[in-house]
Amino acid sequence: MKIIDSIATQAAAIAQLRRDIHAHPELCFEEQRTADLVAAKLTEWGIPIHRGMGTTGVVGIVHGRDGGACGRGVGLRADMDALPMQEFNTFAHASKHAGKMHACGHDGHTAMLLAAAQHLAQHRDFDGTVYLIFQPAEEGGGGAREMMRDGLFERFPMEAVFGMHNWPGLPLGTFAVSPGPVMASTSEFKITLRGKGSHAALPHMGVDPVPIACQMVQAFQTIISRNKKPIDTAVISVTMIHAGEATNVVPDFCELQGTVRTFTAEVLDLIERRMRQVAEHTCAAHEATCEFEFVRNYPATINSAAEAAFARDVMRSIVGDDKVLVQEPTLGGEDFAYMLQAKPGAYCFIANGEGGHRAAGHGAGPCTLHNPSYDFNDDLIPLGATYWVRLAHDWLAQPRSAA
Ligand SMILES: [Zn+2]
Ligand SMILES: [Zn+2]
Repeated sequence: MKIIDSIATQAAAIAQLRRDIHAHPELCFEEQRTADLVAAKLTEWGIPIHRGMGTTGVVGIVHGRDGGACGRGVGLRADMDALPMQEFNTFAHASKHAGKMHACGHDGHTAMLLAAAQHLAQHRDFDGTVYLIFQPAEEGGGGAREMMRDGLFERFPMEAVFGMHNWPGLPLGTFAVSPGPVMASTSEFKITLRGKGSHAALPHMGVDPVPIACQMVQAFQTIISRNKKPIDTAVISVTMIHAGEATNVVPDFCELQGTVRTFTAEVLDLIERRMRQVAEHTCAAHEATCEFEFVRNYPATINSAAEAAFARDVMRSIVGDDKVLVQEPTLGGEDFAYMLQAKPGAYCFIANGEGGHRAAGHGAGPCTLHNPSYDFNDDLIPLGATYWVRLAHDWLAQPRSAA
């Protein structure tokens, strides 16, 4: 493994920063302290910053030895936000804020990009500009989209943009990257069935929404199995069913909520259209009424082929051929998708290991994303930072036509 020396030297100090961020988690668009910390470090290292994009976003601008005169640029992105959940870990750097936790490792993502920033600012052995993008609100807030609305790509012209997520379960020291879809589009639905309440012993006096809802939930799965092409990927999960308050009362209404995941807009269009038909016609068939709400959140995260191949080459040069894995697509969501709709780029995984790195006092649960016993693996900081530095360096060294 070819870790850059100066990054290895600073790794312990950056791990301290990571643990400080972990202990002070902040939710979507509230990342004020984290952004202050990022801004202070970048400034300390002589990196000009631009603040306030997408509320708390920070962009660091590292010009190369030409002062950026060649006009070339590449973007590296980290997310900074935490999750609204209670941490089970009790080790020294566990969350100090009840109900908030860095359970997705965005503390580590911020730290890895900071470590890269420090090296890039000290060496500047490239021509062009590296833009360091620290974004808010990945966990549902669409912070990437908000930074773009505030002019991220107009103000900071970059040829490509790259993202990275730690991935628990992959063996330590490996990366994974692939072309094409790697994360799904995410949409939420809410369906309100209105029947007519009655005494539970006199159901013929009312319109019971509960059996109608049950039919609807079953029928939705036939959209997956019978309507979309078998080779297309999609999930419909009804995750909430709310109705009734008493064992002897037929409720007036029933509410279904859940999520839909797809890799393409065409499949999403099909699913939304068919879910609406199924919902409305099932209600009509049973003399109930239906309110159907469907909200599209993040688009699918699609890696461009050339940039995924480029990232893979950089990883191979650091960890070797056999340590760069195929990135199995998942149906989780990721707002880096918005950046990849606007720019070529690639979103990769860096292995977080199985959880053996956690200090005494971890919460005994698995070290998986969004688990209350999770912790980012600090051993990744020098590896992730080396990837960032090498990626930016090699990108700016290649002929522009390849971009
Ligand atoms: Zn997450
Ligand atoms: Zn995450």
